[in-house]
Amino acid sequence: MRICLFFGTFNPIHVGHLIIANHMAQLSQIDQVWLVVTPHNPHKEKSTLLADHLRLDMVRDALYNTPNLKVSDIEFHLPKPNYTISTLTHLQEKYPQHEFSLLLGADNLRSFHKWYNWEQIIANHRIYVYPRLKEEGLDAAPHPLIEQHVNIEFIHDVPILGVSSSHVRARLAAAKDCSFLLTEPVAKFIADRALYQK
Ligand code: ATP
Repeated sequence: MRICLFFGTFNPIHVGHLIIANHMAQLSQIDQVWLVVTPHNPHKEKSTLLADHLRLDMVRDALYNTPNLKVSDIEFHLPKPNYTISTLTHLQEKYPQHEFSLLLGADNLRSFHKWYNWEQIIANHRIYVYPRLKEEGLDAAPHPLIEQHVNIEFIHDVPILGVSSSHVRARLAAAKDCSFLLTEPVAKFIADRALYQK
């Protein structure tokens, strides 16, 4: 199978993540999208990060009944910090029958040249880039070697979604309604446990 890996903290998983994952899973060159919940991102602050198992369960609830979208906790069981290249190598060894590609939001492409062993990632895996609004970290241009690389594929003709987990967290902390930013199972999961409150 051709698996597209969508790495994220999903803190929390919002409709943007789901629309993007679903769009990718419908492409003819992709069979399944796996949402890989990252326990700790070396490029991100950890203080606002919800416990790993809560984010995993939230993603699981969000993907209920979507056969082409799967959740993965593979990085929970790998040595920390989690480098994408190590996870990819591990997955390729575990599932030699599958072909793995990556899905990134355009903001992540800007910092891709800082990723550990990025040259090896881009040489061996196709990378799909979903467009993102300027405000979401798109001020700098990606490294030209990356932007023009044969394995980079920009996704076109899709809605640009101005939603981020930070925005959702800020709204939840201010006790503002998040209907339509979160799907119902995720909103319920958060409300039941009173998560992200100040
Ligand atoms: P935060 O606001 O906490 O930084 P986030 O909304 O960017 O979070 P992540 O879990 O960090 O969510 O994102 C996982 C992946 O999804 C990243 O590759 C990110 O670029 C992408 N992504 C998230 N939201 C969007 C969006 N609205 N449009 C395009 N890509 C997105």
